[in-house]
Amino acid sequence: MNSEHQLDTLLGDQNLPQAHRNIAEKVKNSERITFDEGVYLYEKGELPYLGILANFIREKRHGNNTYFNRNFHIEPTNLCVYDCKFCSYSVLIKEKAQGWEYTLEDMMNIVKSYDGEPVTEAHIVGGVLPQYDMAFYQSLFSEIKKHRPELHVKALTPVEYHYIFKKAKVDYATGMKLMKESGLESMPGGGAEIFHPEIREQIAKDKCNADQWLQIHEEWHKLGMRSNATMLYGHIEEFKHRIDHLERLRNLQDKTGGFQTFIPLKFRNQDNQMSHVAESTILEDLRNYAVSRIYLDNFDHIKAYWAMISRSTAQLSLNFGVDDIDGTLDDTTKIYAMAGAEEQHPAMSTKELVKLIKEVGRKPLERDTLYNVITDYENIEFADDVKPKYYALPVLN
Ligand code: SF4
Repeated sequence: MNSEHQLDTLLGDQNLPQAHRNIAEKVKNSERITFDEGVYLYEKGELPYLGILANFIREKRHGNNTYFNRNFHIEPTNLCVYDCKFCSYSVLIKEKAQGWEYTLEDMMNIVKSYDGEPVTEAHIVGGVLPQYDMAFYQSLFSEIKKHRPELHVKALTPVEYHYIFKKAKVDYATGMKLMKESGLESMPGGGAEIFHPEIREQIAKDKCNADQWLQIHEEWHKLGMRSNATMLYGHIEEFKHRIDHLERLRNLQDKTGGFQTFIPLKFRNQDNQMSHVAESTILEDLRNYAVSRIYLDNFDHIKAYWAMISRSTAQLSLNFGVDDIDGTLDDTTKIYAMAGAEEQHPAMSTKELVKLIKEVGRKPLERDTLYNVITDYENIEFADDVKPKYYALPVLN
């Protein structure tokens, strides 16, 4: 049964609660839901109901298309001047010996180690330290582009930009323009956490606030550039805080249209100052993907990081609004592992990723950072997937 059929079946149920019906009708008619309806979905929306709505939107936008890219990560340092309570990095600054602080040369060596590999993107994000200032990142971006012009530089979040621009005494608009001129091509979505001050003050009070985060993205979008957005959910926030977060993103997207992808990030409780807070269940993770898909009607893509939520949950998420499961990460990223993600050494080959997507009946498409399709894997078989040949054995009478 296709997703439209499923939604019609739902709407045909005379016993469907009226509030459920109102929202389902809005989804069918591509109408925007309100703040209160968003909170209602979190409070009262059962998983199958949310799944039908989110999958309808997902398939209307993308059919079975499921995107991934080939990237590698550079994490300049795992030390940080900030003290976000959910972060495993900030703990380390007291034990500096366990940290790393890459030089520009170290980072270029990482870039060069991928020479000849079919990667399309360098994803650069890590802790915040004074020596990684504006001049440092300008040199890094331009060195990367000089070495490999076609490699897309997706780097740093408003947390770093706010810090380095302040130090350099430049405003956001000037700073982002200079970054673009140095080779920056898009911004990842991190550092958003939960925007609402009631929660942000408790978990991430020192770094850029919600308005600053949004302003930096807005300046970037004004330059005609794209970025992503995230939300760290499943800790001390309430549903109204999640909807407030989505609402602020939806408003900025109405204004600029510069966001490509929304990425819900599951709070993990290992080795951080919030280890006492229980993690969300997979059911709640799926509900959260679905509500995000329904609420953010002006975002093209919803992404799940398979490395963070496990491969099988990523497969499930493809029925709850998700259309992107990130990349063929090797284990150059330590961020997920340190926070207690499912995958302690995230590595998945293109072949494995394609298989994972096909197993749940979706169509794997390798994309570049801006969602141009590089390879459609629907009908591609990998060499060692070719069925073994059988030889006729002599028959003994
Ligand atoms: S979340 Fe980011 S800004 Fe906060 S402590 Fe960790 S690395 Fe630093």
